[in-house]
Amino acid sequence: MKVLKFGGSSVAKPERIKGIVEILKKYVKAGEAFTVVFSAFGGVTDSLIDVAKKAEQSDVNYLVEFEKLKARHIESATVLTSGENLKTLLKYIDQNNDDLLNVLRGIYLVGEVSARTLDYVVSFGERFSNKIVAHTLVENGIKAEYLDARYIIKTDRNFGSARVDFEETEILIAEYYAQHCDAIQIVTGFIGSVSKSGKNNGKSNDFGLTTTLGRGGSDYTAAILAAGLNASVIEIWTDVDGVLTADPRKVKKAFTIPTMTYAEAMEMSHFGAKVIYPPTLVPALKKKIPLYIKNTFNPDFIGTFISNQRNETEHAIQGISSIGNISLLTLSGSGLFGVPGIAGRLFSALANDSVNIILITQGSSESSISFAVQPTDTKRAKYAVEKAFANEMKDNAVNTLFIEENLSTIAIVGEAMRFRPGIAGTLFDALGKNGINCVAIAQGSSELNISVIVPRADETKALNALHEAFFLSDTLTLNVFLIGVGLIGSELLKQMAQQAHFLKSERAIELKLVGVANSQKSLFDINGIDFTQNLKSLLADGEVTTPDKFVKKMIETNASNAVFIDCTASADVANNYIEILGASISVVTPNKIANTGSWAQYKNLRNAARKTGVKFLYETNVGAGLPVINTLKDLLNSGDRIVKIEGVLSGSLSYIFNNFDNSKGTQKFSAVVKKAGELGFTEPDPRLDLNGSDVRRKLLILARECGFALEMNDIKVDSFLPQVCIDAPNIPAFFAALEANDNFFDDLIQKSHSENKKLRYVATIENGKCSVGLQFFDSAHPFYLLSGSDNMIVFNTERYSARPLVVRGPGAGAGVTAAGVFAEVISIANYLI
Ligand code: ADP
Ligand code: ASP
Ligand code: MG
Repeated sequence: MKVLKFGGSSVAKPERIKGIVEILKKYVKAGEAFTVVFSAFGGVTDSLIDVAKKAEQSDVNYLVEFEKLKARHIESATVLTSGENLKTLLKYIDQNNDDLLNVLRGIYLVGEVSARTLDYVVSFGERFSNKIVAHTLVENGIKAEYLDARYIIKTDRNFGSARVDFEETEILIAEYYAQHCDAIQIVTGFIGSVSKSGKNNGKSNDFGLTTTLGRGGSDYTAAILAAGLNASVIEIWTDVDGVLTADPRKVKKAFTIPTMTYAEAMEMSHFGAKVIYPPTLVPALKKKIPLYIKNTFNPDFIGTFISNQRNETEHAIQGISSIGNISLLTLSGSGLFGVPGIAGRLFSALANDSVNIILITQGSSESSISFAVQPTDTKRAKYAVEKAFANEMKDNAVNTLFIEENLSTIAIVGEAMRFRPGIAGTLFDALGKNGINCVAIAQGSSELNISVIVPRADETKALNALHEAFFLSDTLTLNVFLIGVGLIGSELLKQMAQQAHFLKSERAIELKLVGVANSQKSLFDINGIDFTQNLKSLLADGEVTTPDKFVKKMIETNASNAVFIDCTASADVANNYIEILGASISVVTPNKIANTGSWAQYKNLRNAARKTGVKFLYETNVGAGLPVINTLKDLLNSGDRIVKIEGVLSGSLSYIFNNFDNSKGTQKFSAVVKKAGELGFTEPDPRLDLNGSDVRRKLLILARECGFALEMNDIKVDSFLPQVCIDAPNIPAFFAALEANDNFFDDLIQKSHSENKKLRYVATIENGKCSVGLQFFDSAHPFYLLSGSDNMIVFNTERYSARPLVVRGPGAGAGVTAAGVFAEVISIANYLI
């Protein structure tokens, strides 16, 4: 005998029921002996509760809701059956709706709905659905019979979550099925009735008062039946491919767990995996009946198999689950230390008031005990504890109960964790790198589960971060936010699109563009924006934004493994870095503004990143994609000492001087500058390159990396521009001034030619002093041979004293800068893995 159960989502619409008929036809054809449990149609139990609550609150709209429900059942019956079946069904629905309406009127009149009445009201959901399905099966030639579970499942009077009397129930099941073996029994899930031993107050009818087994209880009905029938297997048919590694609504990459033990399934479901109602596993385990969790919408997929057999898996854990909203209560005080029986008194007091405890944790100092409860239990728990410890509290030996709300419990589950070191390390590492604070931690000595309590706002982020950390075969997703889609930004997107396939297949890294903005508009999509599209036109229809708004929205998204890329040259964007780093989002940028503010701000940025453990990366601030800053860091970290750094740090000026020189007088200096700008070789505002302020900023950054607490004004810049160019108030005026002074530049280049020298704009750090200026170099100097937009940085250090360490290569241009940014983004993925 097999027991099958189809959940509410599987019977939400008549078409879905038709799909189930096809599944069941196959069982019949194969000659299987089986019985089937159905839940109420999807959403009906919630609606029935809502209707009853509305009636209780004297809201006449309960009638509207009631009519909707009635129409829904009539419509299903009409779509699925005809003739006699339909006639019988319509009569049944009519009569039972009359009963339901009478009860609702009663609730409305007295303005009160007890747990007992509510159980009766919700029982109509399973009764309607099973009656309709039974007749649908008959209509399709399957010999099926409706069975009201209240005849066979006997419980105590704990309405809303009744406890089953297995002894009586199993006898009734065996008797009933023995007498009804010639038809397939279609059994109402979720409901039972008060057993004779459960004191019926004399008001018994055929089966006693209606009870329910707790929300989601149809799964339990299936297991109870299976136990009574000594079934060979229980099949729970739902709307997903089995038990997944995490809740698929919260973790998109969750995948099916092929096999699990009862204990693992129990832990997963207890800690929030709604796919199985936790008590279901108890009778199954007791009678060693295995379970399959299958997908009604993908019936050929094998799903999850749950038994007492443990299979080796490649992963350290089986799954991750969470309870979205809990409260943590802490009992503390000097009176707890070394006093036996405190925990006993605490938990007895809670048990006496029926407070269900989700998790307990106590530090070995014994000065406090924390426990988690459902928010609805918080008040009751507080009252119970304060009553139990009233004397100690009066004497100040125990403090008043400390309550923290809006928390979530996240649990990692799996038998393979046992005796395996490093699991907790991985857990806390992943949470830490995403800036998630653990409020409390608990691990049972069975090592089947480690639970952490985190702020509720971080629940989804924590689940995703842990999923990536534990399921290594899984791809690590970086959630990327990009502001600035000018030359560098759009080149970066192009490179990311080109490289996406390689990164995913060879490096298991996925880049998901979650937010993007230009100076006016933004787009957000937590599922990822297709960055192969023309973002410029997409952004035209985006939401109007400012850098502050964009950052706010990005932080609110609370995505795990988040990276913010600033490809602007804007101070309004850079001013947000500290807040962004504080929100545990790494920052990658070629924008030099943040690093060249005050020394205090420079320190604050680093502190913000250190505090949350995220990365602040800006290699492209100096030398575009060249490894300048990282080389310098490596030298210093390994104990070298800088004697002198000399650098041609402006790729723009190199490009301009080299092209001007190479043109041999055919092009004017102003024209060369304009062209360089068009090609992305200068800053958006070319004055920053030509007046030396860009080189000055780069030099300041290098000097600060060396540890010199310098401010911008400490760096001496000798400008080579005529004063009118320096004074130009805007970009057009600057170009006009350049053109007017083209002769001045012709003279400069002629001077260099006559001396067989090259013009180079050089930055120097020596003995903590920095200077920048135009110099002429002859062929004996390495700077002489620089070509194109090349940068050259010469490190004279204690170790590199005989011959300096030289870094040389193109130091400007959108391509190399974007590649440098890209490399740093990937380095964050490598750090997170
Ligand atoms: P049914 O109506 O079939 O009883 P439920 O809604 O009670 O279905 O349970 C199935 C749902 O449980 C899935 O749709 C899924 O959203 C949710 N769920 C939560 N955690 C998990 C998990 N770890 N694996 C599978 N499903 C899960
Ligand atoms: N219909 C009930 C509920 O919604 C039982 C179930 O679906 O398992 O809770
Ligand atoms: Mg369910």
